[in-house]
Amino acid sequence: MQKVTDNVYVESEISVCNTSIVVTKDGVVVIDTPMVPANAKKLAADIAGFGPVRYVINSEPHGDHIAGNCYFGGMVVTHDGTRKALLKAKPEDITGMLQMMAPDSLPLDKEFHFRPSDITFSERLTLYLGDHTFHLIHMPGHTPYSLAVYVPEERIVFTSDNINLGMPVFRDAIPDKWLETLKLLEELDVDKVVPGHGEVTDKSCFAKMARNVQGWLDAVGDAIAKGMSLEEAMEKVPQAEQFDDMPKEGPAAGFLRMNIERIYQILKK
Ligand SMILES: [Zn+2]
Repeated sequence: MQKVTDNVYVESEISVCNTSIVVTKDGVVVIDTPMVPANAKKLAADIAGFGPVRYVINSEPHGDHIAGNCYFGGMVVTHDGTRKALLKAKPEDITGMLQMMAPDSLPLDKEFHFRPSDITFSERLTLYLGDHTFHLIHMPGHTPYSLAVYVPEERIVFTSDNINLGMPVFRDAIPDKWLETLKLLEELDVDKVVPGHGEVTDKSCFAKMARNVQGWLDAVGDAIAKGMSLEEAMEKVPQAEQFDDMPKEGPAAGFLRMNIERIYQILKK
């Protein structure tokens, strides 16, 4: 794990999303869990070296952030909506992605299950552990149930996929809330920002992400204004040139279509 501040470590390599820990004098808080079971087990063993896990926070309901919960101790804390997603989730929901990423992990071991939350909240929840404060703040955008974890003592915020400096994923997004959330994030007094995926960054990412989200909305909005059907928009929205870090082939290419479809449907309303 990469040391990011005095008491914060982030794992970006073996976890599909970023898995982070905050080490307090009364135990460890884990933020998001690895999807591949072997990696979740390995990380849980590594984290045990820092102290007992007291809380596991899931920053959003997508499989790549929640599937590893069952390999960790402590209480699972999520938004109300993420608990509903955890209760509904089935192993089949992630086998497609595992097949692609880590075929060795299939079939899933008997231990695997979507471990639901023990504690939930709707707007805000504050946890105190050791000398640390964890402000969990509902921040809809990438999903309706996304949250940020703000730890003032470390001057850091964990943003979920509301910050993802690769391709934003709109599949379950609420775009106008997403832009509001990025403004709220801007107000936090932090030096470090841990995105849902990718490298640890700083506050400059909020404006960058807002431009990125707005760019997608403008591109699809433009297609609608020109009277394009959804299928035409799929062909003509200049996503490839405009968002040049996105793959044009492979599994991520499906996200391009999903993004355009979701935004098209929302803007049409
Ligand atoms: Zn996500």
